[in-house]
Amino acid sequence: MNEVTDLNKGHFLRKMIKLEQLITAIQEYYPQADFTLLKKAYNFVHLCHEGQMRESGKPYVTHVIEVALLTTKLKLDVSSVVAALLHDIVEDTKVTLEEIKEAYGSDVAGLVDGLTKLSNINFNSKVEQQAESFRKMLLAMARDIRVLLIKLCDRMHNIRTLEYTTKTKQLRIAQETLDIYAPLAHRLGIYWMKSELEDLCFKYLKPALYNSIKEQVNQTEKEREYYIKEVVREISQALKENGINGAIVFGRAKSYYSIYRKMEMHDYNFQDLYDLIGFRIIVSTTMECYSVLGIIHAKWKPMSDRFKDYIAMPKPNNYQSLHTSVVSLRGSRIEIQIRTKEMHDVAEKGIAAHWIYKETGSSNKVKLMHNTIDFNWLKDLLESEQLLHDPLEFMSLIKDTLFQVGEEVYVFSPKGDLVELPTGATPIDFAFYVHSEVGLHCKSARVNGQQVPISYKLKTGDTVEIITSPSQTPSRDWLRIVTSTKARQRIRQVLRSEEFSRTILVAKELLAKEARKLKINFAKVLKSDELLKIALEFGHKEVDSLLMDIGYTRISPKQIFDKLTLSAEELSNNKPEQELLEVNKPAITKTSSDDTGIKISGMDRVVFRFARCCEPLPGDEIVGFVTRGRGVAIHKKNCKQIMDFDTHRLIDVSWDTKLKLTRNMYIRIITTNEIGVLVAITQCIASFNINVLSAKSNPMPNNKMLNLFKITLENNTQAGSLLNAIEKLNGVITVERGGRIK
Ligand code: MN
Repeated sequence: MNEVTDLNKGHFLRKMIKLEQLITAIQEYYPQADFTLLKKAYNFVHLCHEGQMRESGKPYVTHVIEVALLTTKLKLDVSSVVAALLHDIVEDTKVTLEEIKEAYGSDVAGLVDGLTKLSNINFNSKVEQQAESFRKMLLAMARDIRVLLIKLCDRMHNIRTLEYTTKTKQLRIAQETLDIYAPLAHRLGIYWMKSELEDLCFKYLKPALYNSIKEQVNQTEKEREYYIKEVVREISQALKENGINGAIVFGRAKSYYSIYRKMEMHDYNFQDLYDLIGFRIIVSTTMECYSVLGIIHAKWKPMSDRFKDYIAMPKPNNYQSLHTSVVSLRGSRIEIQIRTKEMHDVAEKGIAAHWIYKETGSSNKVKLMHNTIDFNWLKDLLESEQLLHDPLEFMSLIKDTLFQVGEEVYVFSPKGDLVELPTGATPIDFAFYVHSEVGLHCKSARVNGQQVPISYKLKTGDTVEIITSPSQTPSRDWLRIVTSTKARQRIRQVLRSEEFSRTILVAKELLAKEARKLKINFAKVLKSDELLKIALEFGHKEVDSLLMDIGYTRISPKQIFDKLTLSAEELSNNKPEQELLEVNKPAITKTSSDDTGIKISGMDRVVFRFARCCEPLPGDEIVGFVTRGRGVAIHKKNCKQIMDFDTHRLIDVSWDTKLKLTRNMYIRIITTNEIGVLVAITQCIASFNINVLSAKSNPMPNNKMLNLFKITLENNTQAGSLLNAIEKLNGVITVERGGRIK
């Protein structure tokens, strides 16, 4: 009896503590707030969600309370906090919107209505529906931004508790969050939210990579902390000597996801410790920002292309700061951001730093306003949707707009026409600006008369000349180097139609393989109407879209053959195996039957490529992975990434030993920082008659150097002897083979 009472008492106390927490949080930014509705809603949700549980096993009500607490972190008004408490109530209980309106007024009811509608949006549906969902969300946002902010808090708590749900759901929610909610948080400038969402999504979407980055960040922690302390000390001293007092100087490691993005974008290896740290200097006034910049540039050599003045030209989400990179006396690169306390506040909290509470009319009702946030991009998006009938294009446009938080560069055509492009634009962006045909066949470029790679980042004032070739076509790599919406759209279009034919091919190969297992004559099936009938059964209008589902492994070949209605005799496999494989001869250039050195079991003519994460060499044990629409990726059997893959998409592959081919490989060598070590390594590589494609050296703490060589090799035996020889050289501490990320 006593125990029960104690339990209830504990429960009651916990309940009251959370309510206190909510009220205190709001009072901090809005002391005059009236909490009558909040208290009422707080008790009400405890009743309504009574007995409902989260997947974590906790009472459901804990979710809505946590979401409400998050809304106070965004400094939202009381109506929003109340709506956050009530956000799942119409969906999950018998309470109606009418009842909410009666009890809490139309402001709260409007928010709850918006949230209920948003929660019914499925972003993982077909593209057409997805575009429609987006439109709905944008409309909801344009109508009342608070709806989106509460939704972001809801998603934040769901992602924080994602470990309790199924793997499939984890992947779906993480992908959707990374595609839509994190960019929205970024667009609204809520940095802490964006970065937490990204890191958590990354953890679920690419666990092996996430762990490998995390591990390496942790491994270098001691050296990093020492380095940070040193740099902070040097900066602080320089500031004091020049009469800047009270500046806050600190350094910190970048988020795991931003490290990953950096590696992706710059093709980095995990090599440069210093690249993972950002330094910040926070001062009192804008004038001081520029003074500090001058002091830093006088002390260390600035890197000319890395300086950005976001104070004079704020980003569209109102971010302001000075960015610069300098080279320290030790030769390492230091990235520094300089800003005032107010700017720092905006950089971290975004939209939440701009709220003003305005009294409206005679009642003491308060309206939430934002004075500086520019929502024109939203308006533009909604208008462009009417221009675009293709939902796919609409979707990419939205994603591009969400991601585009930058400014412009101005460059010239050879004739002197001024062209405006987004920051980071490359000659390819320029080529697409001139004309789609020029873009699609862009082979190389000259900037200011000099030949440059197509990944060259254009600078204001550059004169750009494009060289085309009819045989040149876009590749997927282009998507990583272009920044303009137009270029991206056109490249995607071309790639999509290629992807389509490849996926159909993979689907047919998967079906043929299954057919052989079941001793069914697949050529006969293809000739009959069977596939069309099955396609209709699966809700498709034509065979090709059914094949797309098979190629993307949404439907398994077995499911198809289970539905065959033809009799066993009609389907029996009385033809020799070879002929069965002749069912289709698509026009694909590089396949496993060409002289490329790879045999793929049971799948002839399959498009393949070598995985960049592990860069297999002839002689390595390898395995194939059927990708979504990009043929088969060849990985090393012990590649860490494989562990994250669906095992039923792994297939047996082997090297064709008759062929001699060459492959590129990276080697990472840690050496002492002594004259002659590098020369010895280069000579050693040359003595094996091996070609060096590129070499990079970076200083490490404790007077060590990290050297990265990209070389061309024939097989893993050659690699083995080379590595052995290098290891024996004086001054070499460790040497290892490495893909892009190690
Ligand atoms: Mn919820």
